[in-house]
Amino acid sequence: MEIRVGVYVCHCGTNIAGVVDVEEVARYAATLPGVVVARNIMYTCSDQGQGVIREDIKKYNLNRVVIAACSPKMHESTFRKTLESAGLNPYLLEVANIREQVSWVHFREKEKATEKAKALVRAAVAKARLLEPLEKKIVPVERSVLVIGGGIAGIQAALDLADAGLKVYLVEKSPSLGGHMAQLNKTFPTIDCAACILTPKMVDVAKHPNITLLTYSEVVRVEGYVGNFEVTVLRRARYVNEKLCAGCGACADACPRKVPNEFDVGLSKRKAIYVPFPQAVPLKYTVDPVNCLYMKYGRCKLCVEACPRGAIDFNQKDEEVKIRVGAIIVAVGFKTFDARRVPQLGYGKYKNVITGLELERLSSASGPTGGAILTSSGKKPESVAFIQCVGSRDLKYNGWCCKIGCMATLKQAFLIKEESPETEVYVCYIDMRTAGKGYEEFYRRLRDMGVRFIHGVPSEILEDVDGKLRFKVFDQTVGRLLELRVDMVVLQTGLEPTEDFEKLRKMLNVSLNSEGFFMEAHPKLQPVEASTRGVFFAGCCHSPKDIAETVAQASAAAAKALALLSKGVVEVEPLVASVNPEICSGCEVCVGVCPYKAIRLAEHEGRKRAKVVDALCQGCGACVAACPSNALELKGFTEKQILAQIKALISEVGT
Ligand SMILES: Cc1cc2nc3c(=O)[nH]c(=O)nc-3n(C[C@H](O)[C@H](O)[C@H](O)COP(=O)(O)OP(=O)(O)OC[C@H]3O[C@@H](n4cnc5c(N)ncnc54)[C@H](O)[C@@H]3O)c2cc1C
Ligand code: SF4
Ligand code: SF4
Repeated sequence: MEIRVGVYVCHCGTNIAGVVDVEEVARYAATLPGVVVARNIMYTCSDQGQGVIREDIKKYNLNRVVIAACSPKMHESTFRKTLESAGLNPYLLEVANIREQVSWVHFREKEKATEKAKALVRAAVAKARLLEPLEKKIVPVERSVLVIGGGIAGIQAALDLADAGLKVYLVEKSPSLGGHMAQLNKTFPTIDCAACILTPKMVDVAKHPNITLLTYSEVVRVEGYVGNFEVTVLRRARYVNEKLCAGCGACADACPRKVPNEFDVGLSKRKAIYVPFPQAVPLKYTVDPVNCLYMKYGRCKLCVEACPRGAIDFNQKDEEVKIRVGAIIVAVGFKTFDARRVPQLGYGKYKNVITGLELERLSSASGPTGGAILTSSGKKPESVAFIQCVGSRDLKYNGWCCKIGCMATLKQAFLIKEESPETEVYVCYIDMRTAGKGYEEFYRRLRDMGVRFIHGVPSEILEDVDGKLRFKVFDQTVGRLLELRVDMVVLQTGLEPTEDFEKLRKMLNVSLNSEGFFMEAHPKLQPVEASTRGVFFAGCCHSPKDIAETVAQASAAAAKALALLSKGVVEVEPLVASVNPEICSGCEVCVGVCPYKAIRLAEHEGRKRAKVVDALCQGCGACVAACPSNALELKGFTEKQILAQIKALISEVGT
């Protein structure tokens, strides 16, 4: 069959045409072997641009298309659809990236850039001539979703999906739902009670007929692929029978062992048998095996005697549960920066240097002081200084902005001023960032309330003999060095990835960015999707964000998962590896190198040979490069096609 190629060189406005002579590249393309038509178009991806390509396919009977434009990551799927709508197999398309690889990197060398663009187009045409039509595969999907993490992000995503009729498994590591939001007192900027908006949602999750709630559990293994994930969840033993426990707390009353309460950030004590907080969901007690006297020393069991329902069961064992899901939403939140890492601020050394999260607990009616903000000596502070960006926006620790610190400080300053207007409140900041609905107004309100904002970074914090905290700070706004002596210092600590992220990254074959947060497939166009199909991100595990943004992102992730699973089938890309079983020696090298566990050994004419699971293969090509027998080939990137491309690239006149 005669090869008839159409080449389209995009201006991308001035993005490409400002550097590359696109008319010249199109003129050159027209001279290449097999090219029937070559044009330059202002915006190839526009409706108009795509219309020109569709018309040409019909008019010139094109059977290959080359687009010289931006990265294929951006618009390859758009152009595949253009070919399809003109009746051409969508895989007869080749994209030459003359934006990221040419105009953006060679913007000072216009002539050389044009020559490089020509070379890339020449190579793309050479490869396009050898392209074969490929067919997408259709695989059935499980209409169920796994949500990992039961903070507000996981709760929202689970409820949205369950309300839409999908089966949801919500796996939470701790004994209760709620995450960090459960620890908050009020929420900015509306000063809503956090528990009042969160608790009903937690109850809805527990009651929802479409949600299976697995608390005190962790995902330990994920196998399979989009639409068909097989997940192993480890359910840790609570040593309390959940069906029998009525949450009365008689066991905890009897328990003699007291340990720091993590929910109150160590500001109060809990027992060795406990619920994290009074509104916990599920309201089932859990024995902390590290601190339980019976589990440590084999003696005690006072809780067993106290429990009126015989719910305590020290024979319980951890168990593994297998579930099958079509999609996975990761919503595992964040941890706060450990302020001990900045020793000059005195956290851990001086009792009245506390963190923002500790202040949340102190100000909460259900917290250790019943809502009174008190110094370590039990007095109301007459002066409080907030220090912003502790562990944030500092390349020594974390370079990124925690995004919620400024607003959390304003909220906490508001609560202090509301309770006692005479308390002096200072906020030492690098920049005040109050971008959000109603946030700037809230900032203005705090200034009107007499909170003093100091544009500067404090020096070392010292404690005077009377227990007051002293530090110097240069206020850039007034150009003066100030010395402050206050009763309490609140460090607004940054938000960080947790240790679990790396484990989940490996299990799910997803990526983390340089900061350690989960990385989306595209920051603008696919902000909640992982590069592994069927996996989505929600909440602070993706990047620091406030509750409103977290909830919006969780709903977006739920909508994406729903869209994926609603048809009952998914299309799988055909650009995958394939094995020639006649050549394969069954050495298993490919099995070991495949990062997606996409290659298995299967029987072929009585011998074990490699076999690729198409739906798992991401087309990375690692196996092709590793195979010592040359038995593997990547569809759409065959050896012949790649060699033709390279040859054309290094030749002057094309192939
Ligand atoms: C001091 C402070 C004050 C704040 N004040 C406000 C405010 O007033 N208004 C506002 O909008 N925002 C505020 N925020 C931000 C708010 O806390 C977050 O936006 C919100 O908690 C993000 O929810 P999330 O579900 O993403 O994460 P998280 O709340 O961290 O929830 C994540 C959940 O995942 C679970 N998990 C973790 N790892 C695993 C695993 N491997 N398997 C299973 N489960 C796992 C955790 O146990 C947790 O329950 C504040 C934050 C701080 C630190
Ligand atoms: S057996 Fe353990 S949990 Fe029960 S009362 Fe004794 S210390 Fe507490
Ligand atoms: S191409 Fe990559 S993902 Fe596909 S089987 Fe080979 S190594 Fe695995």
